[in-house]
Amino acid sequence: MTDNATEQAPTFETILYENPAPHVARIVLNRPAMMNAQDTRLLYELNSAFNIAARDDEIKVVILAGAGKHFSAGHDLHEDPRKVDYSPYEPVGTWCGFGCEGAEGHFQREKEIYLGFSERWRNFAKPTIAEVQGACIAGGLMLVWPCDLIVCSDDARFMDNTVDMGLAGAEFFNHPYELGIRKAKELLFTSGWWDAQEAHRLGMVNHVVPRAELPEFTLTLAKRIAKMPLFALKCTKEAINNAQDAAGRSTVMNAQFALHNLGHSHNMMKYGMMIDPNSEAAAKSKAAAYNEKK
Ligand code: ZN
Repeated sequence: MTDNATEQAPTFETILYENPAPHVARIVLNRPAMMNAQDTRLLYELNSAFNIAARDDEIKVVILAGAGKHFSAGHDLHEDPRKVDYSPYEPVGTWCGFGCEGAEGHFQREKEIYLGFSERWRNFAKPTIAEVQGACIAGGLMLVWPCDLIVCSDDARFMDNTVDMGLAGAEFFNHPYELGIRKAKELLFTSGWWDAQEAHRLGMVNHVVPRAELPEFTLTLAKRIAKMPLFALKCTKEAINNAQDAAGRSTVMNAQFALHNLGHSHNMMKYGMMIDPNSEAAAKSKAAAYNEKK
């Protein structure tokens, strides 16, 4: 990291920013006690960490990892979006209005911090590698899938349980591209798990390695890429992303995002809450809130 970037690096509460090797940044989700669940703070801090890596001309490759046993439990369902104080955060998009009432506020919040951030990180110019262990659930996929390469440990497992919550898949709808059409349907319809080996078979991950070797393997891969000229890496990434976008990916994403938010509105009209209260996630969230109060 350059001295200039070091001076600019803010202190994060939920993110670690490391330089494990020359030209390599390692950004670590650091809420292990919460299985790295993503609240508003974590997502804005993660976005700031990506900005540091973008602005530092010495950095060529970014690794995204999670502290503890699990990569990420997804979005933090303990956080009430209506009670979030947005004053510490600088908006990244222009929709804003996160505090507005009704579907307006919720749509705009999700457009910024879920679809907006994940798409922004997918278009992050330098190569990125996700380093994944343990559980990676729903919103967790929205951090992993935007990365260019994915390395996971043999104990990694993945799930998008948003259909069980009464929603049309998580907000960053990369499922058809990561899993293929039939498996995307099955895994969403069932809200079921798929393991590291299945993820590899489907082409969703580049490598599966023993848990103990995960950080070293990922860093070795990052160091190998970091030997290449940065401008060529950026141009290659853009070229491949363009191939996917030219086939209509962004249109697919936006259409699903509207359907996802229709689900939130339906749940709110029918049940008075954003997710179906009969879902397993809602039951767990209620149980956790009850235990916290006791
Ligand atoms: Zn949502």
